[in-house]
Amino acid sequence: MTAPTLPGLAPAATSPEDKAPVKQPRPGSRAARMLLPRSVDVLKELATDYGVCLRPIPMRRTDLDTGQTEVIDLPCGATREDKCLPCARRNRRLRQAQIREGWHREDEPLPGPEPATDDQKSLIVLRGHLEFERDTAARSARWDEVADLDEAIRELEEAITTEGLRGRVAPPHQSPDEEEAEAGPRRKRSTRRRQDAPELPRRKVEPRTVGKIYTAPDGSTYQPSMWLTLTLDSYGPVREDGTPLNPARYDYRRAAWDAVHFPRLLDRFWQNLRRCEGWNVQYAGCVEPQRRLAPHAHFAIRGTIPREALRTVAAATYHQVWWPSVDVQRYGVDRPPVWDEQAKSWVDPDTRIPLATWDEALDAIDEDPDAEPVHVVRFGAQVDARGVMPGTEDSERTLRYITKYITKHAADCHPTGTERQRAHLERLWRQLQVTPCTDRCANWLLYGVQPKKATGKLRPGRCKGKVHQRSSLGIGGRRILISRDWSGKTLSDHKADAREWVRALLGVTTDAAGADAEPGAAGPVPLRHAWEMARPTDRDVPPLAHRLLRSISERARWRSQLLSAKERAAAGSSPNLSATDRHTAATGEGDI
Ligand SMILES: [Zn+2]
Ligand SMILES: [Zn+2]
Repeated sequence: MTAPTLPGLAPAATSPEDKAPVKQPRPGSRAARMLLPRSVDVLKELATDYGVCLRPIPMRRTDLDTGQTEVIDLPCGATREDKCLPCARRNRRLRQAQIREGWHREDEPLPGPEPATDDQKSLIVLRGHLEFERDTAARSARWDEVADLDEAIRELEEAITTEGLRGRVAPPHQSPDEEEAEAGPRRKRSTRRRQDAPELPRRKVEPRTVGKIYTAPDGSTYQPSMWLTLTLDSYGPVREDGTPLNPARYDYRRAAWDAVHFPRLLDRFWQNLRRCEGWNVQYAGCVEPQRRLAPHAHFAIRGTIPREALRTVAAATYHQVWWPSVDVQRYGVDRPPVWDEQAKSWVDPDTRIPLATWDEALDAIDEDPDAEPVHVVRFGAQVDARGVMPGTEDSERTLRYITKYITKHAADCHPTGTERQRAHLERLWRQLQVTPCTDRCANWLLYGVQPKKATGKLRPGRCKGKVHQRSSLGIGGRRILISRDWSGKTLSDHKADAREWVRALLGVTTDAAGADAEPGAAGPVPLRHAWEMARPTDRDVPPLAHRLLRSISERARWRSQLLSAKERAAAGSSPNLSATDRHTAATGEGDI
């Protein structure tokens, strides 16, 4: 039985291009049909072109006054392009806007007072629904779903912030290890295990965050900023393609430990730099892998710092890891210690002797006068820094360079096309799999120590910590690092700015935008809404393809309106565009 050919499509497949010894498939055959583009692919392609989220989360909004409901799609908010390219791109544009705005600021970004309204309770309820869903997914180990919900939660929390609520609703869901790392030391440490202070001059830190202004002989002033790259040490000589000349002598273990502890080293660097320079230096940057797969970091810095000072601080900065020794791996992943349910303890599989507990292992370090940190991370000798003038093409180019890889997983930043490159990645990953990520990591069992808060669920070599995943290359923490007083705005503020700009250009007032009307102003009474998550199977939720089509149409109309508004603006003497606005206009990628 042959499926009927769609009327009107058949001729395209048999277009009379008789240049062919190439055999044309028989019209109407399966082969001919396979040549036609699949409409669903075209739909996704178009959605991507128009910046429409490919995996929107349907939300039901009920008008509390009229009882009318409406299903509104919330963008999935993915930051990696393998999940959702449009959302990842949108996120990168916002990050670029954020970096651009903070970089060359001339005034202090004082955080403004935030309105405290209580009309947003419904959003918090929705946040509760997501929390419930996440918990349900986590209990049944549907980890993909958990990750998706985490992104939805982040997006919603941004929406909550945009709605004018201050602070977080709840602490973010991180891997337990990250939480631990950020919470800082809870255990009292002996003086010996404290970080030694680097030998650097110390000054009192002024609250100033903007750079120095220079005056030229002709009276004109300028205020340059900087760009800085910090790199880790060498683990052995590498080829052009990033692979070691001698894999057997390349120090994979140090590479793995350095990658895992790189974020702490960066934190220390900024602390030390501020103390040494005596002002509240601000930065925005990204951590990404080099071709040799070790992390490095690019930063935009507001103001200037002598290059020599940057080098001195980098050379003097280090982070000591005071953990039990990992010199001997006492157990293999295939024959690990076993859990003794009665003793609630991990024991040797043969002797049944309990392994040292975390506290016992740390006490042993305290009592040993010759104890040394199990690992010390330092920067490599390569510290690149240069000045960047505001408003130049160089400044924009550097900005693109800094954010180049933020939509990709660490392991996808550089091609691993050759066998040699794949083998290099494989060896690093194998090392990362047995490297303890935190004091709670299951891998401690391999070294004969029970991790902190050990339970019977631990699986050495299978810890879920991000640094053990192949795609992370050991870069487990945040990849984007922005200091607190950078632009004085959160990412959602920047998102709201982009919307405002589009509205202003289109001549749409906030009043007309109804639900988003500024509360408190003497304008119309703000609408009251209740939000809830809708399920894709709910009757009032149209199929995904319908929703995508609708969003594409909306975007297409909006884009053409925006284009003509821009032309009008260019022709007439209309809106005074700031640098950011001009940039938004140039990319045509406002965010609405
Ligand atoms: Zn999306
Ligand atoms: Zn781990």
